[in-house]
Amino acid sequence: MKQLLILCTLCVAILFLTGCKQTAEPHSATLFAMDTVMELTVYGDRQLLDRAKELVLDMEHRLSVTDEDSEIAALNRTGSGEVSADTEKLLTQALALCERTGGALDISIYPVVRTWGFTTGEYQLPEAGELAKLLAVVDYQNVAVNQGVAVLSPGMEIDLGSVAKGWAGDRILEIFRQNGVKSALLNLGGNVHTLGAKPDGSSWRVAVRDPSGEGYAGVVEVTGKAVITSGGYQRFFEADGKTYHHIINPATGYPADNGLLSVTVVGDEGVVCDGLSTALFVMGPDQAAEFWKAGGNFDAIFITSNGIVITDGLKNTFSPLDSYKDAKVTVLYRDKD
Ligand code: AMP
Ligand code: MG
Repeated sequence: MKQLLILCTLCVAILFLTGCKQTAEPHSATLFAMDTVMELTVYGDRQLLDRAKELVLDMEHRLSVTDEDSEIAALNRTGSGEVSADTEKLLTQALALCERTGGALDISIYPVVRTWGFTTGEYQLPEAGELAKLLAVVDYQNVAVNQGVAVLSPGMEIDLGSVAKGWAGDRILEIFRQNGVKSALLNLGGNVHTLGAKPDGSSWRVAVRDPSGEGYAGVVEVTGKAVITSGGYQRFFEADGKTYHHIINPATGYPADNGLLSVTVVGDEGVVCDGLSTALFVMGPDQAAEFWKAGGNFDAIFITSNGIVITDGLKNTFSPLDSYKDAKVTVLYRDKD
């Protein structure tokens, strides 16, 4: 009996030790998808990385505007069509964000983005008249999606590029969570998603790129949050001595030009942070600050050539770095002017 007890205790100890080892060990994978390099790190079962990769590639195949066989490309070609349950969910969330941001985010801006050449890299400066013509059909309010069918108004085309990576990060972490993972870190082309804290219980330190040079503008400490950045430095071209980037103001058809160099949104849901970072970048520093003050469960880091503005939820967790080390960091509060 005593021997059996010792044997059982030994088995439990071995199980416990191997169990601990499994969850504490990081496994990483890199893939190229959604036009970006994705680095996935999971503290848990290595096979979850294969599931995550499959998920992202499948998602890209459904959503990509340049993949002729995608659901979105088919919808853009025909003006109406069936969409899968996942695409419908994303489309519905994206439209809600367009509405919430008063159209600063507008998924139907795609024909304008394409004409500038940001989809293919064949950049050009469009004529003002051409932009005006294209803008005439830009209005997310004319996109309808219901019970697996999406309908666009004539001439309209959509692109979910402003929210797809955030959505992908959410879905990956959902799979990890469902499989008992407590710690994971995803870097989807500079957009970072964290699951829980690091295995040692400390926060993740997520660096924010310097939008006007090499290196980093700062670092923010988070647990279980997404940290998503939109910036003009991410894709741009130069013509006639001027820089034109890929985030278009739907009110003008031109790249947003309001003094913001980048906007980072920190929050619980990647898809929301992704949509908001693009929209706040379009709004500009003043309107974006008002938008944040009006409500919403998120924090933000605004970088302009004059310095850094952070919302008060980050005041104890954000530190400037490198060439921003001595920059002015202003804190925004909701209850103050
Ligand atoms: P992000 O990197 O998330 O800020 O998204 C930028 C991408 O979204 C661009 O490359 C365009 O494809 C698309 N886009 C540009 N301007 C807008 C806009 N105002 N609303 C929605 N999507 C946009
Ligand atoms: Mg975005």
